[in-house]
Formats: sequence, structure tokens, C-alpha cells
Amino acid sequence: MVRLLRVCLVALVPGALVAQTPRPAPVFTHADTLRGSFTTPGRVWWDVAFYDLHVAIHPADSSIAGYNGISYRVLKPSQEMQIDLMTPLEVDSMMQDGQHVSYRRDGNAFFATLVQPQRKGALNKITVYYHGRPRIAKRPPWDGGFTWTHDSLGNPWIVTTDQGMGASAWWPNKDTQADEPDSQRIALTVPDPLIDVSNGRLRSVTHHPDHTTTYEWFANNPINNYAIAVAAGTYAHYSDSILGEQGTLATNFWPLAYHLDAAHRQWPQALSMLRCFEHWFGPYPWYNDGYKLIEVPNAGMEHQTAVSYGNGFKNGYGGRGASLRFGFDFIIIHESAHEWFANNITAKDQADMWVHESFANYAEGLYAECKYNSADSGAAYILSNHARNDVPIIPAYGVNAEGSQDMYGKGGLMLHTIRQIVNNDEKWRGILRGLNATFYHQTVMGKQIEDYISRHSGRDLSKVFDEYLRTTMIPEFEYRTAGNRLSYHWTHVVPGFDMPIKVTLGDSGYAFVYPTERWKTVRLRLTTPAGFRLDPNFLAVAHKYGDPEPVAAARRGRGTPAGNVAAPTGVFGGRAGGATGGPP
Ligand SMILES: [Zn+2]
Repeated sequence: MVRLLRVCLVALVPGALVAQTPRPAPVFTHADTLRGSFTTPGRVWWDVAFYDLHVAIHPADSSIAGYNGISYRVLKPSQEMQIDLMTPLEVDSMMQDGQHVSYRRDGNAFFATLVQPQRKGALNKITVYYHGRPRIAKRPPWDGGFTWTHDSLGNPWIVTTDQGMGASAWWPNKDTQADEPDSQRIALTVPDPLIDVSNGRLRSVTHHPDHTTTYEWFANNPINNYAIAVAAGTYAHYSDSILGEQGTLATNFWPLAYHLDAAHRQWPQALSMLRCFEHWFGPYPWYNDGYKLIEVPNAGMEHQTAVSYGNGFKNGYGGRGASLRFGFDFIIIHESAHEWFANNITAKDQADMWVHESFANYAEGLYAECKYNSADSGAAYILSNHARNDVPIIPAYGVNAEGSQDMYGKGGLMLHTIRQIVNNDEKWRGILRGLNATFYHQTVMGKQIEDYISRHSGRDLSKVFDEYLRTTMIPEFEYRTAGNRLSYHWTHVVPGFDMPIKVTLGDSGYAFVYPTERWKTVRLRLTTPAGFRLDPNFLAVAHKYGDPEPVAAARRGRGTPAGNVAAPTGVFGGRAGGATGGPP
């Protein structure tokens, strides 16, 4: 399901410097546009206000049936409405104001022809009834659909995942991240004695004579459609709270019943996580919905206010990775960081997924910094990241394309580099908090995030973002020394690249220089010029003029030619910001 843009900016790199073989251009289809563009004619004229989702789940035949009442504001009059629901699910009917609505199907999109007038500013509602056997997730959580499985005691365990593929894998909606409802009801009916845990607060539990029970959850906030999730199993429940920046924050924990002790041991990390991320990012974005951690039979996912967890109650990621060496549970920390970056601030287009993943990766380092009360520990964590430089982090827009896995580790290194440029940790923290306050409960284009950081850092970072997000190049600091003179400039950079960087100008440590593509010269006060170094906290490569080009592997890695080129962990596939770092 991951479709990557393989070309584009690679072509801008001089041929001799390209480490990778150019790959064929991807072919995007009409269906990709229907799924991936938030400005299709059937979407652009209406704004979701409320989803009222009711679904009965039938494990006996792996089927579901239900309806979604879609309340929406009319932005401009139109009579054709796009509602997404993936095959093999079937729409049974659509109703508006007590009347049947006719519709046609175009693959995974339905087009309803509305008869009632759609007056600008009106709040209207259409209800979509549907049923079927939803697609089964082949490789959750990286693949969308239902997982029908059993826990180790043989009890049914049913969950959904659909990030990337889309929420319309199992329920009808406007399947774009650009449009979130103001709130949502999720009423799921499951066979007894299963308990369903979903997003927001539990409003009611209704037992039915046919030995099923409806769990009515309510998310009282804007919410990503990919965050809406089923988690039905034999759960235990306990609660806790923290006194946070906006008062008492309720935390609720839902492990499988036989993992209750393990959860009590491992999951208190969620409380220290909340304290750390409130410090760095600002208040938890959903006090009225609370925070939840729910055990699931896959690695985990950032479902809003219902973070799913499948990391075996162990530190690390699948038992490995830098988070193991730094003594924390990768899934609790990474997925919960998405409450700020992904759920509070949501990228409108999948192409800007770096807004979710680069910050979540960077947040892992901040958690290490909190845990050890040491910026050096946080830096050591992030510097163990790996950059692949296979394809640019940002792919094509409007076609639901997902960029390189570099959105994790390289993106985290980019943010760590920008922190060095800002060179003022309180200012940097103010930027991270300011992002969450300024774009509170909003969907954004990545460019808005870039521009905000530039504006509030006091420096135009547009070329820095272009270099790291839109090319596969790593900036090369080319230099030569002659006596006590250092000459230097940037190569392998986008035109106009002007990132400041710290270097060893003297024996006392690193100092800023301001390279551009043109050669500059400064006085070097190093006792041994051969010891010249770049500050490894910057994602850049040093190259002494006249020496052989740094090997491609070094350029792909994070630092100087002598720097560490860490191998990815890849334990669970692509989601880890692959890491092999030293201990704090
Ligand atoms: Zn993530």
C-alpha cells in the first residue's frame, strides 16, 4: 500500500553524486486522486461537522453492518457528494431528510446525487447504511483493515488499523486527513463478553437480549478519521491521572485481563511521557477526552485518545533498538507523541507525513532528555538515527502518496539540526509549544509548519527544509586549510543553501560559521588543523578539498566521514526510526 514517488528531485542531483539508481516514476491513478486529493469536486464544497458512527461487529463470519450519520456544513452549493467506502464493502442506502438518495460507485468512492437544496452555510445530514466483510489487514499496523484474531487464551480479539490506506477501509466517510469532524460518536456492538474500547469517553454500555453489547464512545474534539478504531477483547481496566498543565488529566489503561500485572509494571511510563511532552509541546491536547492506552495484537498506532499498544510490555521496540538502550518503551513514547504531532496538528495531505513522524521521532529523543535530565542524552539518542536518502521525504501531493521512511530518522535529525541553528533551548521549546498552540486542533500543510519555524527562529530556514525534505542530498561542507586559514563552502545542496554550522575554529570547541555555496575564508586557531571537525549535531558531511569524495555510505549516514553510520533496526518493518545508539 505504500506508494513512493521515486523520481523528481533525484534528477536535480548531479549524476556522479547520486548514490542510488534512479527508479521509474510512479504511476498515479484516477483512484489515487479520488482518495488523496482533498479538493475533488465532490469533497471541496462541504465541511464535516459530526460523524455518528454505529457498527455491529460479527466475528462469526468476519462481517460488519451499520451506518454513519454525516453532518456537514455547506461551504458552497453543490449537489454531488463524494463519500468513500472501500471494496468489498457495500452501501445499502443513503438517506437525507427521510428521502432515499441515489448514488453511483466509482471504485472506492461513492457519488451521491442530492435532491435537497444545499444552501451555503446550512448544516445538513446524510446517513449512509452499509455492510459487508471488510478487508483484512495483511500486515497491521502498516496495512489497513480488520484483524480478527484470538488472544493466547483463545478469546476473540478484534482490532482495526487503517493509517495510510484510509478509514474508508471499514466505515463510510470523507476519507481525507484535511477534514476532521468537530466531534464523533463511535457506537460499536460486539458479542458478549467482549469489551470494545475506542476513542474519547465511554458514554454508555447497552446490553442486548441477543448477547451482544453496544459500547458508545464519544470523542468530544476534532479527530482524524484514521484515528477511529475498534479494539474489542477481553480487557481489564484501571485508571490513574496526572496533575497537568490544564488540571487533572484522566488516564485509562486497558490491557488484556491476563496482562494486568504486566501493564501495572510497564505502563507508568505513560505518565512520565505526559509530563515530559507537556513540558516540551504544551498541554495534552484532549483533556476532556482523556488519555488511553489499549493493548492490541499489532505493534501499535497513534489512535487519538486511544493509543494502541503491542510492544510486549518491554522496553525497546520489539525488544531492540535505541529505546532499549535508553531504557524506555518505544511504542508508548512514539505513538503517544503523535497526540501532539499527528492528532493535534494533522497533515492535510499524506505527503506531509513528516509533520507526524519526524516530530514523533524527535520526541523520542526529548523523552530520553527528560528521563536522564540531560540534553546530551537526548542528542545521543537522536544521533543514533539513520538516514537512508533513497527518495525524498516529501513525495507527490494529492494522490495519497507516502514519502521515504526517512520521515522518521532523517526527519528527527533535521529537527535536531534546526535546534542547533536556533542555538537557544528555551526558544526552541517555545517554537515546539507554539506550533501546538498556533495549529491547535487543526489540519495543516507541511509548509505552514516550515514557515512557522522559520518565522519564530528568526532565520529563513526554507533552504534547510528544501534540502532535507525535498532532496536526497546531505549537505557537504567542503573545506581546505592553509596555514592558519580555513576556506569552506557548501556543496551537494539546493541553490541558495545557507545553513550555519558549528565547526572547530579553535581549540576551545565549536563556533558558528556561515557557509554558502561560495568559498569563504576565516582564521583558524586550531593547534592541529588536521583535527578540524564539524559539530556532529548537524546533519552534514565534511569533505577536505582534494580528498576523495566521501563514500556514498558516509553521505547517507548522519555525520562527518568519520561519523557513525548506524544500521536500521527494522524489527517490525518501516516504522522505527531505525537506531543503534550508545547508552546515555
Ligand atoms: Zn509514528
